[in-house]
Amino acid sequence: MNMRPLLDTELAAAAASTASLDHPVPDRHGSNLYTTDAQLAPLLQLYLPAAVYAHLQPYLSRMGQLAGGRLDELALTADKNPPTLEYRSRSGQDVQRIVKHPAYVEMERVAYGDFSLAIMSHRENVLGWQGKLPPLAKYALTYLFVQAEFGLCCPLSMTDSLTRTLRKYGAPGLVDKYWSQLTAVDFEEQAQGAMFMTEQAAGSDIANTQTMAAPQADGSWRLTGEKWFCSNPDAAFAMVLARVEGAPAGMKGISLFLLPRQLDDGSHNHYRIVRLKEKLGTRSMASGEIRMEGAVAYLVGEQGRGFVQMADMVNNSRLSNGVRAAGLMRRAVAEAEFIASERHAFGKALQDMPLMQRQLDKLRIRAEQARTMVLQTAAALQRSDAGEEGGYALLRILTPMIKFRACRDARMVTGDAMEVRGGCGYIEEWSDPRLVRDAHLGSIWEGTSNIVALDVLRAIRREGSLPVLQAHAASLLAEINAAEATPAFKAALQDALDRASRFAQSAVDARADGERLARTAASSLYHSFTAIAMAWEAAQMRSAERMRWAQLVLVHRVLPRDPLQDSEIPASWLA
Ligand SMILES: Cc1cc2nc3c(=O)[nH]c(=O)nc-3n(C[C@H](O)[C@H](O)[C@H](O)COP(=O)(O)OP(=O)(O)OC[C@H]3O[C@@H](n4cnc5c(N)ncnc54)[C@H](O)[C@@H]3O)c2cc1C
Repeated sequence: MNMRPLLDTELAAAAASTASLDHPVPDRHGSNLYTTDAQLAPLLQLYLPAAVYAHLQPYLSRMGQLAGGRLDELALTADKNPPTLEYRSRSGQDVQRIVKHPAYVEMERVAYGDFSLAIMSHRENVLGWQGKLPPLAKYALTYLFVQAEFGLCCPLSMTDSLTRTLRKYGAPGLVDKYWSQLTAVDFEEQAQGAMFMTEQAAGSDIANTQTMAAPQADGSWRLTGEKWFCSNPDAAFAMVLARVEGAPAGMKGISLFLLPRQLDDGSHNHYRIVRLKEKLGTRSMASGEIRMEGAVAYLVGEQGRGFVQMADMVNNSRLSNGVRAAGLMRRAVAEAEFIASERHAFGKALQDMPLMQRQLDKLRIRAEQARTMVLQTAAALQRSDAGEEGGYALLRILTPMIKFRACRDARMVTGDAMEVRGGCGYIEEWSDPRLVRDAHLGSIWEGTSNIVALDVLRAIRREGSLPVLQAHAASLLAEINAAEATPAFKAALQDALDRASRFAQSAVDARADGERLARTAASSLYHSFTAIAMAWEAAQMRSAERMRWAQLVLVHRVLPRDPLQDSEIPASWLA
């Protein structure tokens, strides 16, 4: 056959394609998820006192390194090797045990042991810091950790929240009895927590709880009944909702109990894990069903106020869910950005293609809104716990807002970021499928989307949260000077929040009729508030990029849009 010599361009193309075979798909594994995140350090510097930030910086960097490397490997392994339930010991004793994969246990050591994430909010001198670290320290480290592993963050958050609720409502003797186990620094000694609320007939409708509590002569209680969804079911302690014998029907008959796994004589308490659930996501972590057969428990707080007290634990977990959703989105976006910068098609990098740029923006703004909400809600939690005026009312509305919208956005962002990796995104050896599977759970547990959207309206009705949110947003807007944002943009931000607030108030005023508007109200408050807070951050950080994202939040998620019209940032908003 007569072969013509290859042209230089063909030779170069052949060389390029050989090179691309050496590195066929860009892989970000091993990168530091903290130092490669250009916005995270300046944002934390904005929200944390300088000394706290300086102290935390090496821990953040270490966590970022682990999350991008070792933890990511462990998470993949643990996802493929879910825990199993053992019913008997090898010598024939009926002792139930959840067998966790060593990869999961190694991740536990990092979270509970090395970084003290479950005890950080409950004791001083953690991570070498004199005094107690602010809530944001815990959430910033969790935000990085969850970018590798989502499942474990549920038991971690329940342990943290259980300790908080016990300290807040438990009788001093009860708190003293278990405090050292719950706040032990050593991983081997640290007890874990769980929360057993849901029953077959009582999920969202907790008032329908059927588990019964009978008082005992020694002051303890005996619980009988079944709990249908119990994550971390072999935890050392669980908070349980039960109905005291003879108590009125509905919410007023429900009390809160602390259920230890082990009795004082060292034997197992009288409850069994009936089976473990096979789940779409959080496969690394066990969720099961529990049957209580006269299990010994201790009343926490006041009889008949179980739901109100449990709400404190649930709200803390809902905030943690928002942090996790924000972390999942950040991971998804960072992976997508990396692929877009490294992978080439049609002779150029994906990130240089206008349509891809638009897709990436749509992912980024959702991830950044959630990140801003994490920072704002953590700050509100600190103000609330310090008893500052308005702190509780603000926290009370921001928590369901982030739980509702960030968890929903995480579904879309993880799914669409998966597509940026092309076919590989669908393959289980990459992070994308795990992120997608895990992200879907955030909207279901700890209150479904409908339930938390309705809770936004409840916060407005019962806690007077709306004027507090408006006042807080106004103070942020007032700190944005004219050099950073044009008057037209600031006016658009104010107008968006005013409209969202009027809409939410009208939904509240319409009572039952307004319920159907709850999701729209919660979303519009979230979008208009995050746009303002992001603009404030951008102004403080002097970040034109973040200011553009704040503008895009309004353009893409708030303002009415004609789908057939090109929606650009209005010229009057640009400085
Ligand atoms: C993997 C996993 C782990 C879990 N771990 C735990 C745990 O550790 N502890 C625990 O206590 N629970 C746990 N849960 C349970 C979880 O919190 C519940 O499944 C959730 O609260 C929903 O309750 P449900 O399943 O009974 O659904 P339902 O309450 O029956 O809800 C069904 C649908 O009805 C909608 N709905 C209900 N009420 C209203 C309303 N008023 N208006 C509009 N729509 C409404 C809901 O939004 C939902 O879409 C877990 C669940 C999962 C999937």
